[in-house]
Amino acid sequence: MWEENVRRVIPYVAGEQPKDKNVIKLNTNECPYPPAPGVEQAAKEMDVDSLRLYPDTESTALTEALASYYGVDPDQVFVGVGSDDVLSMCFLTFFDGKEPVLFPDITYSFYDVWAKLYRIPFRTVPLKEDWTLDVEGFKAPNGGIIFPNPNAPTAVYEDLSVVEEILQANPDSIVIVDEAYIDFGGSSALPLLKKYSNLLVVQTFSKSRSMAGLRIGFCIGSKEMIKCLNDVKFSVNSYTMNMPSQALGVIAVEDDAYFRETTGKIIRTRERVKEELAAIGFSFTDSKTNFLFATHRSVPAKEIFTYLRERNIYVRFWDKPRIGNRLRITIGTDAQMDTLIETLKGMPGIC
Ligand code: PMP
Repeated sequence: MWEENVRRVIPYVAGEQPKDKNVIKLNTNECPYPPAPGVEQAAKEMDVDSLRLYPDTESTALTEALASYYGVDPDQVFVGVGSDDVLSMCFLTFFDGKEPVLFPDITYSFYDVWAKLYRIPFRTVPLKEDWTLDVEGFKAPNGGIIFPNPNAPTAVYEDLSVVEEILQANPDSIVIVDEAYIDFGGSSALPLLKKYSNLLVVQTFSKSRSMAGLRIGFCIGSKEMIKCLNDVKFSVNSYTMNMPSQALGVIAVEDDAYFRETTGKIIRTRERVKEELAAIGFSFTDSKTNFLFATHRSVPAKEIFTYLRERNIYVRFWDKPRIGNRLRITIGTDAQMDTLIETLKGMPGIC
């Protein structure tokens, strides 16, 4: 009879991590470049003996490095095991009201999973036909708001005036902006923290800082909000971030020149690839991310997905309403993208 007592969930499905190293992996929006050079050096010199001990529960060095980089107080920073952990803690902490939490219908598909897991009422606000946010839809009574900017998987970036309009319309709700992809051309909402105490900004080291494997995410908000988050975190697991992640994360934050170089390279590759894919019949939203949300004028997305996969090029495809004829293609190195384009040119019906 134990089954009656089980919490049942339909889990989030992460993009595939193939064992085969020869795959051109454009399916999970990782960075194709290695982490900052100092990270390798520090990893080699790591004091392995110290792994006997539990890590710093407050991730002090990493929190301070982030606070100094973003010009905020360390009490305004919370770090976690990837932004998934940070977001999950945010759902658990901030979304405990009676009114539904609002988020777009086409968005990061983990949001509804957490909402269901934690039994949080929620309602989706459909994106407009052009994939932009329906701001009016976020002016209804709610128990909190969350959206990514740029959105995923659409890649659409909303101007900060849109974020501000949502904040202004919801002074009594916490508004979480998930900025996983903000470093690829958008403007962060972080400066709005001075004006809006109900804003929380979440970011990650997984994309622009090339560290998906270390699992580092963080959020910045008011001291009061961060205190609430810490109270919940310390009620679940005190030692979330391991020692190597804390130490290597600091080095990544401190190397701003490398960060700018890699994000700049990805942006340049993205713009070139857009032109070349457009020339063979693809169209996309105006991406400000490290991926394209692409569709082809004559060949269905599902067929292209399968064709590429058979040739060891992995992209992401969802057989879901509204986005079933779209591919999400991560921007890789120039060489990887050249192989992608050449392979696509060889597919019947593409050119
Ligand atoms: N938010 C969005 C919008 C994402 O696409 C992702 C990546 N899957 C995440 C958060 C989580 O990233 P991570 O846990 O690697 O920081």
